[in-house]
Amino acid sequence: MRQIYLDNASTTMLDLEVVKAMLPYLTNKYGNASSSHDLGREAREAIENARKIIADKINAKPNEIIFTGSATEADNLAIKGIAYANKVKGKHIITSEIEHPAVIEACKALEQEGFSITYLNVNREGLISIEDLKKAIRKDTILVSIMHANNEIGTIQNISEIGEICRAKGIYFHTDASQSFTKLPIDVKAMNIDLMTISAHKIHGPKGIGALYLRENVNIKPIQHGGSHEFGLRPGTENLANIVGFAKAATLVIQKDIERMTRLRDYFLSALIKMPKVKLNGSHKQRLCNNINVLFQGIGSEIMLNHLNSQGIYASAGSACTAQEITTSHVLKAIVLTDEEANSSIRFSISKFTSREDIEYALNAIKEIVYSLRKISAIINKV
Ligand code: PLP
Repeated sequence: MRQIYLDNASTTMLDLEVVKAMLPYLTNKYGNASSSHDLGREAREAIENARKIIADKINAKPNEIIFTGSATEADNLAIKGIAYANKVKGKHIITSEIEHPAVIEACKALEQEGFSITYLNVNREGLISIEDLKKAIRKDTILVSIMHANNEIGTIQNISEIGEICRAKGIYFHTDASQSFTKLPIDVKAMNIDLMTISAHKIHGPKGIGALYLRENVNIKPIQHGGSHEFGLRPGTENLANIVGFAKAATLVIQKDIERMTRLRDYFLSALIKMPKVKLNGSHKQRLCNNINVLFQGIGSEIMLNHLNSQGIYASAGSACTAQEITTSHVLKAIVLTDEEANSSIRFSISKFTSREDIEYALNAIKEIVYSLRKISAIINKV
């Protein structure tokens, strides 16, 4: 059976070029980057080369990149790291209600420790209001953490404007760019970003590797304790092969791929919303190039996903990280969908490997599934 993978916001296939780049570091070049012999030095060189590649991508300096074990870890390090380093100055943090659980749960954990958190509302498109942000800032605000692009609905926030406001007020600004890194232009200096989370497995790199951009001279407290790796901020022997793979993946994304994904997304989306009782969730304009989130009115997302799965089409409902639990997506609720609407919504996310034929195949299957499920529910409603 044909397999159409439309769950790239959740994770992506490894690019074979990435595998090739990683392979030597999984086999004969296995040194510990802290060792002083040749094998260790070779590992150190590979890590520092990768650090420079990633830094160049976002206009940062290599010493501003800290490798972590995941984007989740980078989010935690950023938020708790700033909180613990600045608690004498203030204990107030501003974030949004549509952040990834890695940010929301880190904030909730800080609330338990006496920090005060403001969760900004978003509008129906998933955008925060800049006015609300300005109003929420207090004398004791130490950090603003607003994601660049949302993982469920793909909404892109105006992070340049947020960065400017924070810098003017002397408040640190963190953005989770796990979904947007390489898909949207990011210049941490021009955008006044102090801390930024990125991830490899969303860009055809390996799982289990992320990074935190930390602006020079911004102090954070480490949240784990051990050796002096990663400038003393993230102890533990570096994941050499994954770091090399992360940097390789970052070099492989080209503008042509982004433009092609955007065209494919628009084609897919316009065909979907032409169908009766199908609506787009989130913003039409401020949307990530690979994200589609639609509401199939009256069709539960679980049943829809099962039917899609049986035809080899892989998508998701809500975010994949919470797909095991039957909880209504906090993001879809935040854009004021009812529970029923949120639980009838599906996210399709494409990649540079998605072809026009894949989309045609998926569209045909979706049309058939929707038609037959609606027919069944019409019969049930009559009985
Ligand atoms: N932040 C965002 C916006 C994400 O989309 C994800 C993954 O879905 C994460 C953080 C967490 O990434 P990981 O599971 O790799 O730690």
